Order: sequence, then C-alpha cells, then structure tokens
Amino acid sequence: MPTMKTTACKTRFAPSPTGYLHLGNVRTALFNALLARREQGCFLLRIEDTDRDRSRPEYVAALLEDLRWLGLDWQEGPERGGLHPPYAQSERAAIYAEHYQRLETTDQVYPCFCTPVELALSRKTQLAAGRPPRYAGTCARLSATERQARCERGLQPTLRFRTPPGQRVPFTDLARGPQQFASDDIGDFIIRRADGGPQFFFANAVDDALMGITHLLRGEDHLSNTPRQLLLLEALGLPAPRYGHLALIVGADGGPLSKREGHFSVRELRATGYLPEALLNYLARLGHSYERDRWMPLAELAEGFTLERLGRAAARYDEAQLLHWQSEAVQRADPERLWAWLESAVVDEVPTTCREAFVATVRPNIRFPADAAFWAGRLFGAELPLSEDSRALIAQTGSAFFAQALAAYAEHGGVYQPLFDDLKRRTGAKGKALFMPMRAALTGELHGPELARILALLPPELARRRLEDAGSA
Ligand code: GLU
Repeated sequence: MPTMKTTACKTRFAPSPTGYLHLGNVRTALFNALLARREQGCFLLRIEDTDRDRSRPEYVAALLEDLRWLGLDWQEGPERGGLHPPYAQSERAAIYAEHYQRLETTDQVYPCFCTPVELALSRKTQLAAGRPPRYAGTCARLSATERQARCERGLQPTLRFRTPPGQRVPFTDLARGPQQFASDDIGDFIIRRADGGPQFFFANAVDDALMGITHLLRGEDHLSNTPRQLLLLEALGLPAPRYGHLALIVGADGGPLSKREGHFSVRELRATGYLPEALLNYLARLGHSYERDRWMPLAELAEGFTLERLGRAAARYDEAQLLHWQSEAVQRADPERLWAWLESAVVDEVPTTCREAFVATVRPNIRFPADAAFWAGRLFGAELPLSEDSRALIAQTGSAFFAQALAAYAEHGGVYQPLFDDLKRRTGAKGKALFMPMRAALTGELHGPELARILALLPPELARRRLEDAGSA
C-alpha cells in the first residue's frame, strides 16, 4: 500500500543577497542542512531579498553557486522548485498582502503615521526617563476620520501589529533551552514599511509557516525577533517552527565577523584553494561538537549532528583549526581532483607525463596550490634557490661527498635504494648525514616530500647539475 511521505523535519537557509556568503552564514546553512539530512528531512532555500536597495541578482547567483560548491544542495527552493513557490521574497508580495489583510480584518494591526523623526524623539524621551523604549501607541486608536485626514495630507503609513498586552511569550530554543519574553517589553511593532515592503521578521515568519518549516537554526542576533514572530504567527493562526539561535562566530580578536571582512567570504577562501570539505569539517565544529574529532565526509557530519551537542559559548574563528582541516581534506582528495585543483599553479612547470607522480609526491607537503607551485619550482625549475640552512649544510658537508654522489648517480640514476646504498658505501655517511645533504643539494630545502619520490621525479640532467653545483659550492 503506498504510504504518504510526511516530512518530519524541514529546515531552511534564508540568506539575504546583500553580499557574498561568509563563514558565519555558511555555518548557519550547514547546520540546517546537517539537521535535515540527519533526520532524512528536507532542506529548503529561500532568498530574502526584501531590502531592495542592497539586494543584488549577482549575489543570488553567487550564493547558489557557493552552496553547490560546498555540497549543500537544497531539496526545495530556487532552480529546484517545490510545493511552495516562489522562493524569493521579492516575488511574494501578493502572499504578504493577503496576510496583512487577515490581520486588518481582525483589527490586529493599524496604520501608523508617526514619522521617523517623531519616533526617534519618543525613543529618546523614554530612554531619558529610564524606561525601555517601545512604541507609545500614538496611532493605535485613531478614528477612521483621523486616518483619512492623515492620508489626505500625503502621509504614507506603516502597518503596526497590535501586540497583546500583559502576555508571556515563552518558547524552548533548540540551542539555548527555555526562553521567556514579556509582550509588554515588545510593544506594537511595524510589519509593513511605509514604502509598502514587508518588515523582515514578518515575511520571514509567514514564509517559514507557509513553507512548512519545522526547525530552524539561525544567528543569535535574531533571538529578539523570535517573540514577535511567535506573536504574529499566533495572530495569523499559523504553525510556528522551532527556533534555535546559534552563538555568533567571533573574529580572532573577539570582534564580530562581518560581511565586510572579505577575508572570510567563501569566494575568497575558495580562490585561496580551500576545499569545501575543509570548510565543512571546520564549521561543523564551530558551535557544535562531535564525539570524535576526525575528518568526516558530509554524510558522516550529518549522521553525528545533534541538537544536544550545540554549544552556547561564542565560537571563535581559529585559522589554525581551519588549516588543519584543509590539510586533512587535501590528503583525502582523489588524485584527479587534486590535479584539477592545483593545475593552474603548476601547469607550466610540471611535464605532462609527470602529473600523477607529482601529485602523489607533493600531496603530504601542501595545503594550497601555491605550495604545489613552490615544489614544482624545486623539482623542475632550471634555477634552484637554496634556503639558508641548505646552503650551510652543503658547505659543511664538503665537495668530496657530492663528487661521490655524482658517481653513484651516474651508476644508478634516481633509483633511491641502490643509489643510497652505494653512496653510503662510498662515503661512510649514514642516517641524516647521508640523506640531508642530498635533500639540500637536490631541492634547496631541508624538509619536503619523500626523497625517494623526489629522486624518481627529478629530470636526470637537473639532478646531475644540482649535485655538481653542490660539489663546487
Ligand atoms: N535573511 C535573514 C538573514 O540573512 C534570515 C534570518 C533567519 O534565518 O531567520 O539574516
């Protein structure tokens, strides 16, 4: 018998396209995506573009691309469709109009003609008197004639919600536990701006309810919107999702991470060479902890994600941690993908036939394509710059050693074991004294990829020249 599929858990990411995705909002997207996956539910994407001045279509395109690059695909939303279109708020004006109307019919809203200047003055007076500022109710009880007169004077009203007085607004936050607000602290609030556009938390709450969102995680900067949204949904007779507020990610200096910090935009991190799995492994642990601290693919990150393990403390951005996960991701990426990732940085130097071996050789020693470019230069560059310590070691080792090395190389080529067995016999050197001078002479560095792999990759004429140069240093 066919069963009706009910979605037990439906989460969403609702970005405002006013800039590029940055670590903070990617974490929000990730947590919602993980929660949905973990519960085999649905992850919805909605574009909150009600701020007409700041929203741009190119930011929408960029955020869809960034989310896909990260592997955070949505099951419902733009370019994907679903049961609740449209998925951009700028196209939902008719839906909001219908809901204003419902509130008007039940007298739960009223037009407010107070100007921003008047409101600011009232706020100032209340603050000066030591009272928390809230709307003074000036327009709450205007008669129809009074309203008419104001409209005739050309005043554009906002629409204000009549917050029920003397109510407690309790809810259990998915991350922070029980919360309680008093409606008297909130006062009547605007749900439609004077220009006719919806206020953020109105459109946001209505859409969550209509789109069937059951759970949502968002930044803790939205916590104070939640009681208003709960009041609105109650007034509209719509179901409320369960809200969870995540402690914000703070910068290394304790200050907020902002969109203006381009350093943290996904685009920039991607251009530097960060791999998506590195960002995901890092962010999944920023405000959430896993039982085990090992690298995980997205499916496992989802499996281990639970609301009980959400943290409350501010999550501090830590570049060292991010770099750690980047190394892990690089070690795990498959070879073709890794070549595609570093190709443009090394393609001029690495011979076509050596690509695979090059990737295998440098992989443990790189975190970014720029690191690969460094080793490509050391392996295939006509000129070999010597690091300070390499130069010193070569001088200290002396030319006799390198003369023997040349002779051994002439005999065995770059085949590691016979080459070093022979060199050991010839010079009596062993261990570090045997290997380090060779590493210094052949790569100009005292650290780096495995010597056996380097020898196999180094073009013989370069190897010989470098040993000669070391011998005559
Ligand atoms: N558009 C809002 C933002 O980007 C969404 C807030 C929410 O998740 O409810 O901050």
